[in-house]
Amino acid sequence: IYLKSLELTNFKSFIGNNKIPFSQKFTVITGPNGSGKSNILDAIRWVLGEQRIKALRAEKTDEIIFGGNRFYSKANYAKVELCLNIFNEDYFISRKLYRDEDSEYYLNGKEVRLKDVQFFLNNFGLGKYSFVFLGQGEIDELILKENGRIRELIENIAGISGYHEKVKELLLKLEVIESKWQELEEKRKELL
Ligand code: ATP
Repeated sequence: IYLKSLELTNFKSFIGNNKIPFSQKFTVITGPNGSGKSNILDAIRWVLGEQRIKALRAEKTDEIIFGGNRFYSKANYAKVELCLNIFNEDYFISRKLYRDEDSEYYLNGKEVRLKDVQFFLNNFGLGKYSFVFLGQGEIDELILKENGRIRELIENIAGISGYHEKVKELLLKLEVIESKWQELEEKRKELL
């Protein structure tokens, strides 16, 4: 699996459409202070479904949309598209946000729910707690974490974390079926 490219449209300091290709081996991003290097990492976190706005170094959701400067007026929406190459096939994940609206998510161009994106990512160990991202200070956090978090990480690497949600959903369905079954059973007894 590797990160093939990232396309940022009006995301934070990126005005209009900007495509960043990544090398399959190693990519270094350099630039002066405040030029937008960390914004690129924020964009990757965001498109992968980050819900904690503070993790994106913002206070309000709208702050991830280009806010205008001396030369350009503010944008109405932001979009980020990530191309992941998985076993030699390209997969596109995108997230789009209009001001005052909720995010829209797309997998290979088809609109999906956040949980579909999360399930897809968990299958490849790229979920919420994956260590694909190690931000400043996170190496310490990783080493010093207590058992619960380490278990989450291991499940994530093994690609099974997505199944917890599926299991919960199925158990709920099972409960509904069991209560319906009981209702039918009572009706059957009445008829006998
Ligand atoms: P450093 O090397 O100091 O860590 P950096 O290259 O990582 O800097 P970033 O933190 O990515 O820089 O970028 C910060 C810049 O992004 C600031 O100039 C800030 O004004 C700008 N910025 C952040 N959000 C927006 C937004 N919504 N609209 C316009 N500009 C924004």
